[in-house]
Amino acid sequence: MIEIKNLKKSFDNLEVLKSIDFHVDKGEVITLIGASGSGKSTLLRCINLLEIPDGGEILMEGKNILKGEIDVNQHRAHVGMVFQSFNLFDNKTVLENCTIGQIKVLKRDKKEAEKIALDFLDKVGMKEFAHAGSTQLSGGQKQRVAIARALCMDPKVLLFDEPTSALDPEMVGGILDVMKELAAEGMTMIVVTHEMQFAKDVSSRVVFMDKGVIVEEGTPDRIFNNPTEERTREFLGRYL
Ligand code: ATP
Ligand code: MG
Repeated sequence: MIEIKNLKKSFDNLEVLKSIDFHVDKGEVITLIGASGSGKSTLLRCINLLEIPDGGEILMEGKNILKGEIDVNQHRAHVGMVFQSFNLFDNKTVLENCTIGQIKVLKRDKKEAEKIALDFLDKVGMKEFAHAGSTQLSGGQKQRVAIARALCMDPKVLLFDEPTSALDPEMVGGILDVMKELAAEGMTMIVVTHEMQFAKDVSSRVVFMDKGVIVEEGTPDRIFNNPTEERTREFLGRYL
């Protein structure tokens, strides 16, 4: 469903992504791990076109999204992104956060958008907060809303960038449970995380990045129990 070939991205003189080749099949849950600064967020942001790569290809269902024939807003709508810092619209209610994209980008009417939003808010346990202002919520609640908002857009794939890193420890499990449920339902997901237990339990494939390259990838069992690269062993050693 996503195929990335020879992807490159630099910021000034800093080569952040150096010829990344990578693919994601429908229904896969990929966890992307690696040290700070290795390029994980930049890779996700390129897939969502929040960053424009300097070279290479990103094929989404066979179409090169870097080739100008696609509508960037439509593309972003169907590639949901959940951020560490939630990124809700602060001056809107929970419900409005979940309907605005549906109305503006997917051109749904307000009633239909609200029905869909309430269904997904219910799914993440936030229906009773539909009319609350988003600033009144805890971090864990905000992240549930951010996930519901992404689901409202009929995503083909969901990208998560350290979705639990900004949460109080007691909130982390609930968000991981929501993500596990989505994975079990067959949602295609790419998850940048330091939650190694989640990576072991939920992912179909673990990808380890270091300094702008994919060092190795494989099943959780292989990467965690039998990594072939020294850099992977060293990185994982920090989590033992
Ligand atoms: P972390 O685990 O800390 O989130 P990461 O693997 O997500 O790290 P990136 O955020 O992709 O890493 O950043 C990779 C490198 O690119 C870093 O050195 C970072 O400083 C740099 N970088 C990222 N975005 C920009 C930008 N907009 N302008 C300049 N440099 C950037
Ligand atoms: Mg990052």
